Amino acid sequence: MQVNKSSYRIRINGIVQGVGFRPYAFRLACELGLDGWVLNSSYGVLIEVEGGAEDLDEFVQRIIVSPPPLARIREYNVEKIDPAGYRGFVIRESQKEQNRNVMISPDIATCSECRKEILNPDNRRYQYPFTNCTNCGPRFTIIQDIPYDRSKTTMASFPMCPLCQSEYEDPSNRRFHAQPNACPVCGPRITLLDQQGKESPEAVTALLKAGFIIAVKGLGGFHLSADARNREAVSRLRKRKKRDAKPFAVMVRDLETVRNYCMTSQEEERQLISPAAPIVVMKTRKDHGLPADVIHPGLNTLGVLLPYTPLHYLLFDDELDMLIMTSANISDEPLITDNQKAMENLRDIADYFLIHNRDIYNPCDDSVISLTPQGTVHFFRRARGYVPAAIQIPHSACPILAVGSELKNTFCMTRGNEAYISQHWGDLNHYHNYLNFLHGVERFEKMLEVKPEIIAYDLHPDYQVSRWAKSQAQVQLMGIQHHHAHLASVMAENGLEGEVLGLICDGSGWGTDGTVWGCELLRGTYKDFSRLAHLQYLPLVGGDLNSQRPYRMAFIYLLAALGDEKAMAEAKKLLPHLQGAEMGLIQQMMSIKMPILTSSCGRLFDAAAALLGISPINHYEGQAAIEMEACADHHATGRYEYQVEKQPGMLIMNSLPIFAGILRDIHRGGTVSTIAGKFHLTLSDMFADALLQARDHSGLNRVVLSGGVFHNGIILFNLSNSLISHGFEVYHQQQVPPGDGGISLGQAVIASERVI
Ligand code: ZN
Ligand code: ZN
Ligand code: FE
Repeated sequence: MQVNKSSYRIRINGIVQGVGFRPYAFRLACELGLDGWVLNSSYGVLIEVEGGAEDLDEFVQRIIVSPPPLARIREYNVEKIDPAGYRGFVIRESQKEQNRNVMISPDIATCSECRKEILNPDNRRYQYPFTNCTNCGPRFTIIQDIPYDRSKTTMASFPMCPLCQSEYEDPSNRRFHAQPNACPVCGPRITLLDQQGKESPEAVTALLKAGFIIAVKGLGGFHLSADARNREAVSRLRKRKKRDAKPFAVMVRDLETVRNYCMTSQEEERQLISPAAPIVVMKTRKDHGLPADVIHPGLNTLGVLLPYTPLHYLLFDDELDMLIMTSANISDEPLITDNQKAMENLRDIADYFLIHNRDIYNPCDDSVISLTPQGTVHFFRRARGYVPAAIQIPHSACPILAVGSELKNTFCMTRGNEAYISQHWGDLNHYHNYLNFLHGVERFEKMLEVKPEIIAYDLHPDYQVSRWAKSQAQVQLMGIQHHHAHLASVMAENGLEGEVLGLICDGSGWGTDGTVWGCELLRGTYKDFSRLAHLQYLPLVGGDLNSQRPYRMAFIYLLAALGDEKAMAEAKKLLPHLQGAEMGLIQQMMSIKMPILTSSCGRLFDAAAALLGISPINHYEGQAAIEMEACADHHATGRYEYQVEKQPGMLIMNSLPIFAGILRDIHRGGTVSTIAGKFHLTLSDMFADALLQARDHSGLNRVVLSGGVFHNGIILFNLSNSLISHGFEVYHQQQVPPGDGGISLGQAVIASERVI
């Protein structure tokens, strides 16, 4: 034993398993001539290392400061211990401890080295669709339990061949302890089936080029795929999927090709090629030559993603460079993950089925993001590639389950000061989505080894998920107001403490006064809030019907703004979808006292869009607002009149005068895009005005922005700029969606702060 040998015990916690941490430690120790061992434990990674003091310090420095690229160190501890006299450095067997504190890695897009292998005819993994290594491949979607070992994944049924096994055991190999390691000899296989379930000898790419629709089993579920440049194929897919207008995402062969179709920024490109490989929504080029009206009707943006598994790379060739890649589900039901179900449920949509025999344990949709003009990430949907990475929350409390919202549902489970947000479950009014939610809760409990002591739920009496929460025994229940949850969600991910102003512009959320809140200005902390301002109330005649038929909302606004006679005259000219009987009924119900009032901002967008003829009917949620943003002229100037009125104890943002202004512009022959542009500017100004008054009144200078309306880039950008120029500190969401997919985080944090 060397006399001057020192020794350290290092514990590292975070996303440190399944990301090549141990081979990294091994190689580093060998390079520096250090002795000892590294192992995976339920806590994370445990290392004992000994050698010369200088080399040891360098080891610690390098392992903590520049860990392997996919590792996320959450905390670490370095302890000086007595040298044990180890000879050489080894990787020891996994150790199971009581405390399962480890974090599971999200799925990771195929790395460049694996990609080279599958494209190289001389490599034994040439064209092998399940190629992966410690730097890439499936993780969350195949993991059934922890610690993360092959036997606890859906790869358990594929024993490794001797060659794969030797890679797996060789610390100098890129596949050392790569749990899903596989090759054509031992791993999963793909099969192409026709509609009758018979194996087909055809080549997939040839079928796609011939215009067929193929259901492709991917990482987190099935996709429906078709040649994006083939108008007839895309239209057929749209018709068969009964998807009237919702934009399709496209998978593009490579980054070069993306640039031909979209105006990409550096940051957008960085996200496209990131390990999470999300769908990035980007501006399209004008001359892209795609059948835009069937791919993304009414929009100037396109959701694009790059191939993220080896299987995807094999779908493309020199001629075929862009595929529709849309989640395979039937009208808002869950993503299909099972071969049998795909064959049964997609029979009327897909011509062929490209299936495989590796099971998907955790279903996971593609994530959808965009980049803000400031270059920050904006989530539309946070799922594959991000789940189950934790988000740090300000303080630790007992384990909490926050069940989220009814639409765009995610739940959130906490362990200590970490919040684990589930993948996207969608609309829980669909029974199968609801079942998936329930399974998801069980799986997260197992994965995190926590048993929630508190369940936080939305106050809405009709939310199925809130009713489920309230039926749970032996837990503390906590009802949380929808908009407060939005506010807390932004606070939490920005690590804010104290009190803030929160402008929550939303479609709908149950208010504490029994009305349907929408656009609300709150002041609040994690624990509590009060309401300072809201959009003026309008009667929601016909309830939810209005979110599907914006023309009804336009008429309601006209009635409220102009009175019956003028409103009728304008409606006859501008709202052709509004038939006499419906018109009469709405008018009648408006005149008697209506019980449901709403301050919804989503409905305000609907009304304006319908009046402009942009989207009189919503074929998907938020269509009117999305198309209104798409057609808005960014160079528009001027504002419509609006009022921010002081009422006792409340400011009212009155948007009714805006409608008179819009009508004037329409009759003067103003273009739809100028009016839409001016409408956006007006709303931003109205919100800024209300916030300025709220600041005067409250003395609070920090503003958080959340709610589904902040998916609108123009409003987010204009309002943020205007607020910053007035000296506000402005915060928005960057780790979870501003829409209802992000409220489970807020609910969890509110609950945790209330019990601390
Ligand atoms: Zn790889
Ligand atoms: Zn093998
Ligand atoms: Fe909401």
